[in-house]
Order: sequence, then structure tokens, then C-alpha cells
Amino acid sequence: MIQDPADRLQDYLVFGEYGGVNPSIEDSSTFTFLSVEKMEELFEHEIEGCFLYSRHLNPMNHYLGKALAALEDTEYAQITSSGMAAIVCTIMQICSAGDEIISSRTIYGGTYALMKNFLPKFGVTTNFVNIVDLDAVKAQITPKTKIIYCESISNPLLEIADLASLRLLADEHGLQLVVDNTFSPLMITPVHHGAHIVIHSLTKYINGSSDCVAGVICAPHDFVVSLRDVNNGAAMLLGPVLDSLRSASILKNVHTLHIRMRQHSKNGMYVAKGLQELGVKVFYPGLTAHPQHNLFSGMLNPGYGYGGMITLDAGTEEKGNKLMVRMQEEKVGYHAVSLGFYKTLFSSPGHSTSSEIPLEEQESMGLSQALVRLSMGIDNDIERSFERIKSCMQEVGII
Ligand code: PLP
Repeated sequence: MIQDPADRLQDYLVFGEYGGVNPSIEDSSTFTFLSVEKMEELFEHEIEGCFLYSRHLNPMNHYLGKALAALEDTEYAQITSSGMAAIVCTIMQICSAGDEIISSRTIYGGTYALMKNFLPKFGVTTNFVNIVDLDAVKAQITPKTKIIYCESISNPLLEIADLASLRLLADEHGLQLVVDNTFSPLMITPVHHGAHIVIHSLTKYINGSSDCVAGVICAPHDFVVSLRDVNNGAAMLLGPVLDSLRSASILKNVHTLHIRMRQHSKNGMYVAKGLQELGVKVFYPGLTAHPQHNLFSGMLNPGYGYGGMITLDAGTEEKGNKLMVRMQEEKVGYHAVSLGFYKTLFSSPGHSTSSEIPLEEQESMGLSQALVRLSMGIDNDIERSFERIKSCMQEVGII
């Protein structure tokens, strides 16, 4: 078994139609058949190498799915047109009206809003818990629970879920452990720690160039096939297909992910340590002061570090806002939502990616309005970048 996910990716080769080093892009929404019987057969079940209609499956999404299944060590993967589509399709495939989800309360704001506001319209309700408190998770399990949902590193507080313990709970009650691994591709392989299904927003690190929106569901073969069942599949029937051209460009970027992740992590660690030394309240799982540092260290694949995501407390909302404006002016990076870009991105979670969470709930989970989240880029000279961050902080009065 190949343990390093980058080595599994390396071994995934696809040739183009004329022997090209990249697969040929099949620029077609529909596919021809030589017999009526074969077409009927494909409506009934998938046949390797046969394609029916691009929303069902197309060659490029199949190739990208195979590459990402290699990354996450799952049997197969379903590509979707966004990370949210991956989350919606997974939940709707597993849950029916009346079912319940237990979710970490610190998740991406869009996922939170989906579970809190949208899914109840279809009879699917969610109990939000502190995912690091296993007793609290256990207490929420009812005969109607179908899914335990969490992010491997939570957004934006960077808490670490104990996947192995969550899996034990899931097994006791016949639940699916669904893990969003968007913040930590390559760094951890959630199925090795107990996840049944792994989701990514490809929009972030995996693509890495902030030029598109896409998602993936990495899962056992039968689950992936069920997602595109012509009569019953959430991906087939809700229709979030990713265009082949975009899928092809993501596939090319996937193969540089290991180099990028190492640099994101190197820069993340440098800045997190520097901020800590300056006395700034900083959340970063690579720091020994992080409450789940040891747990996370034990889960990491060697060599990819602790990631590029850092959250700091600017003291007040006003200082946080000023800091972001100054950092953009000083070319530290961009004041923008999202993450995983080659340049540094920063935003205030309370006003952006977590703004869907009501203010009092944000406060109860420790999500202060003074938080600033940084997605460290792959800057060549991180010492130079850190000096700029430091001088912006001095100017704004944070240090
Ligand atoms: N999961 C996480 C952890 C995210 O941060 C995001 C978006 O920010 C999503 C899922 C949703 O992904 P997308 O924007 O590709 O739909």
C-alpha cells in the first residue's frame, strides 16, 4: 500500500488520444452508441470506459475523480461544480425527510447555513455540537441520526476533529462519518483515521489558483455510483456537473499540490511562530499551545507540515479591519474570502465566511469579531512578508 498521497498521485498516468501527456478533453455533452442494447445497458449500470451524457459522467471528470480518489485513498470520487454541491449531494444522497445530522458547530458558514436554514425545508435537521467534546456528540445521537459531519481542521477556529473516536461512535450507531478536508489536502488522509466519505472544495488548495469553483466527493465505489444513478442519484438529478475544460485545468494543478502544500505550511509555521513571539493571540495547529496539537501531529502524513491557515485575534474589530486594509496596501496579499491561493488572502470570518452564523452563536463558539483569518500564500521570501505584517500590526496598534 502506498502511504504517501503524493506518490499515489504520481502513479496515476492518463494518456491523451494520440499519446499526449495530458488526457484529451472530450468536448461533448453527449456520446454515441453503436447499438441500442448498449445504451440501454448503460442506463441500468455503469460500464468502464463508456459514457452516456456529460451530466452523468464525462471522461475528464472520470480522470479527475480517479486522481482525487488516489489523493484521498478512496475507491472512487464524484466531481461536482462546487464544494457546496459536493456537500449538498452527499447529504441528500444519505438523508431522507425526518433524518438528523450531527455537525461540528465550527464549520464553513455556507455549510452551516445549508444545515441550519435550508435542509429543514426538506425535513432534514441538524444538531450542532462542539466536535472536540465527544460526550456532547454522543449525547446528540438519536435513532434518526444518519451523519456525523465535520471539517478535519475547522473553519475558522482551526480546531481538530478526533476522527478515530468519531468513527467509533459512528460505527456503534450505524452512522456515516463525513469529513470536509478542504483545509488539509495531503496533510491528512481522513479515511485512514475513520472517515467514510471525504469532501473537498477544489476551489481552494487542490486547484490553488483561485480561478474556478469546483468540488469532489471521495467515497467507496458504490456510493459514488449511487450519486449518479439515473433514477435516484443526487448528483445526476440535482445536476451540479463540472465542465470538462475546467476539470482538465484542475487535473493539471493537482500534480503540483505537494510542492505548494509544503510551501504553504512552511510559511504558515513561520508567521504563526512569529506572531506568537510578538504576543499576538494566534490559532495555528502547528503551535504546541494549540489545544489539539498532539492529536493533529499524530494524524499528519509526514512532510506536509501543519498547513497555511492561521487565525489571529486583532484585539478589536476596528483594529482587525484596519490591519486587513493596510496589509493589502503593503502587498502582503489580498483582502478577499477563500483560501489556498498562491498569494496570501485575508478576511474577517465574522463578517464574511462565518457571517451566516448568528452573532450570539458566533460568540458562544469563541468566534470573536476581532478575528482575522490568513491563508498564507507560497511567498518565496516569508521573512520579508512577515516584516510587512509586523509593521502593519505596529501601525494599527495591535503590537
Ligand atoms: N468547505 C469549506 C471548508 C470551505 O471553506 C468552503 C468555501 O469557502 C466550502 C466547503 C464550499 O466550497 P465552494 O465555495 O467551492 O462551494
